[in-house]
Amino acid sequence: MSKRLPNDCFALPQGVNWTPVADALAHLRTTLKPVTGVEVARLAALPGRVLGQDVVALRDHPPFSNSAIDGYGFDHRSLPGAPDGLPLLEGRSAAGAPFEGVVPEGSAIRILTGAAPPLGVDTVVLQEDVTLTDGRVAFDVALKAGANIRAAGEDISEGGTLVASGRVLSAGDVAMLASAGVAEAHVRKRLRVAVLSTGSEVVEVGATPGPSQIFDANRPMLGALLDAWGCEVVDLGRVPDDRAAVLEALGQGAAGADVIVTSGGASTGDEDHISSCLAEADALHTWRIAVKPGRPLAMGVWDGAPVFGLPGNPVAAFVCALVFVRPSLRVLSGADWHEPLGFDLRADFQKVKKPGREEYLRARRRGDKVEVFASEGSGRVTGLGWADGVVALPHDQGPVGRGDLVRYIPFSEFGI
Ligand code: AMP
Ligand code: MG
Repeated sequence: MSKRLPNDCFALPQGVNWTPVADALAHLRTTLKPVTGVEVARLAALPGRVLGQDVVALRDHPPFSNSAIDGYGFDHRSLPGAPDGLPLLEGRSAAGAPFEGVVPEGSAIRILTGAAPPLGVDTVVLQEDVTLTDGRVAFDVALKAGANIRAAGEDISEGGTLVASGRVLSAGDVAMLASAGVAEAHVRKRLRVAVLSTGSEVVEVGATPGPSQIFDANRPMLGALLDAWGCEVVDLGRVPDDRAAVLEALGQGAAGADVIVTSGGASTGDEDHISSCLAEADALHTWRIAVKPGRPLAMGVWDGAPVFGLPGNPVAAFVCALVFVRPSLRVLSGADWHEPLGFDLRADFQKVKKPGREEYLRARRRGDKVEVFASEGSGRVTGLGWADGVVALPHDQGPVGRGDLVRYIPFSEFGI
């Protein structure tokens, strides 16, 4: 059983009609808490998982000092008196097969990358910088004492914290953990997210639709997003606009998952059963966010499981999932807060906009310019496939002229 959330975790401050996106996000950041337990996972299974406990290094890295290059090692004090070079000792020090003897001052030895310097060696000269003649190694480069030798522990110290709890682990982290001798780590259990589509007009893709029916686009889309975000998807299927069916599905979702994400029926119309069911249970917080696209969100907690009631329009559902659901799921799954990082590009479009709401336009980067999808209609699903990111126009932004700098955020910043 996962930890449950209190009913009021989505209660936005009263008296605000249209909440700015930033305020809504700040609210999610402070009120949501991790709900998943921890388990042990082997190194190879770590990328993409959320670290549930700090990882401590089990060994120094490098564990012993070693040569950074292929070359010749010697005692730095030998240098001033060696205009004709240094006599080369018999033997060599190779990675995994160190030279066991001592190199006397005034001599040099062959040493390869990764090899421990033998006793008497504190400096290495690059093999490309030397001339070898008659068993002597000569060079004319200035070298500091210790040059080209990596010191033991210069990268990682045994016993130090290597990665902090909350990090979503990467391939690079895995290299670091392995180097420090860490073969497994405590990670958060995957967040189980139940996905439900609502609407009497919505049928399963592949089925034969009636004349007034449409295919369910949101469930496959949300499933794909959740997959990319490392969640375990619990498929609740579709329900028609019917109170009993919605109640049943919410109950199933709360019993079998940590979080419920629904689409459709989240507004305040006659057939908006997600909001009305949550409202009846006194669990509804209608989020009117100053954002486009995005109708009201029906937020609530059903039997302890947070519910994100997204709008039915696929474009609005998609954008709200990226902007609100994703950071929330990260917090619920124990991960650090993450703000998608964009960069400024020249607008290859113009647009009428009034200050007072944030707008997300489906966008595509073209060199140092960004274009936006021809139609802003939130039913236009083709724009979702066309785009490789969004242009995020801030709350206070007015009209955009061609050539103005606008903030482009690639989809990769949203973890997809
Ligand atoms: P609603 O939020 O229920 O008022 O739905 C808004 C619009 O989105 C309507 O045109 C619905 O037909 C459409 N819609 C709702 N759910 C889905 C879905 N799962 N897939 C595609 N379109 C949907
Ligand atoms: Mg509907």
